[in-house]
Amino acid sequence: RLEIRNLTRRFDGRAVVDDLSLTIMPGQVTCLLGPSGCGKSTTLRMIAGVEMQDAGEIWVDGTLVCDTVFRVPAERRRIGLMFQDFALFPHLSVAENVAFGLAGPAAEKRARVETMLDRVSLRRFIDAWPHELSGGEQQRVALARALAPDPRIMLMDEPFSGLDNRLRDEIRDTTLSILKEAGTAVLLVTHEPDEAMRMADDIALMRQGRIVQQGAPYNIYNAPKDKQTVSFFSDIN
Ligand code: ATP
Ligand code: MG
Repeated sequence: RLEIRNLTRRFDGRAVVDDLSLTIMPGQVTCLLGPSGCGKSTTLRMIAGVEMQDAGEIWVDGTLVCDTVFRVPAERRRIGLMFQDFALFPHLSVAENVAFGLAGPAAEKRARVETMLDRVSLRRFIDAWPHELSGGEQQRVALARALAPDPRIMLMDEPFSGLDNRLRDEIRDTTLSILKEAGTAVLLVTHEPDEAMRMADDIALMRQGRIVQQGAPYNIYNAPKDKQTVSFFSDIN
C-alpha cells in the first residue's frame, strides 16, 4: 500500500503539487485524473524517486521511503513504472529486456523471464529481437519487463495513450488482470475521464495541485462536487 502525506512541490515559488495526501490499497487501481498541467506527472515523479518534494512524506507498506531529509533510492522502493513512451531497448533481446531490472543468479533470472513471458502469452518470442515483434507484442513485453521485479506499487503515466483503440483495450485488460492477480497497488495517471471510469476502483480528481474530490467512479460521475467537475466529465457519454 502506498501512502502520500502532505506532498508539496514548488517551481519558481508556485506550488504545482500542493499539500496532496492519498492512500492506494493493494490490488486496487486508483486513477489520478485531472486536466493538463494540474501536477499529475510531477506527483508520480516524486513517488518514483526521480524528483524531490519540498514537503511531505511517502510511505510504502508502512515504511517511510522519502521525506525532505531521508530517502530510499529509487531502485530500492519496489515501485514499478510504465510511462507513455516506454519502449523496449532495441539492442537487447526480448529476454534481456525483461531481465533488465532483475538481480540474482542467471538461472533464476531466466526462470523469472519465462514466467513473465508466459503471463503475457509471448514465451515463443523469448529469443527474438524487439523489431521482430508487432507494436502490441512489444507493449506486452514492456509490461512483462515492468512487472518482472514484482513491484508492490505500479505507477502508470498515460501508458495507453499512444495506442489505437483495439490495441488499447487489449493491453489495458491484460495489464489490469496481471496487476490485480499480483495484488499490486496501482496509481494510474490520466487526463481522460472515460479511461478513469473504465479502469479505476477509486478516482482522485486533481486540479491545480490539489485533490478536489475522491471516490468510486460512479459516485463522482453521479455526484460531481462543482461546475468545473461537471464540465470536465461532460465529454463522456
Ligand atoms: P499533462 O496532463 O499535460 O501531462 P500534468 O498534470 O502531468 O499535465 P505536470 O507535468 O505535473 O502536469 O506539470 C504541472 C505544472 O508544473 C506545469 O505547469 C508545468 O509547467 C510545471 N512544471 C513541471 N515540471 C517543471 C520543472 N522542472 N520546472 C518548472 N516547472 C515545471
Ligand atoms: Mg503529465
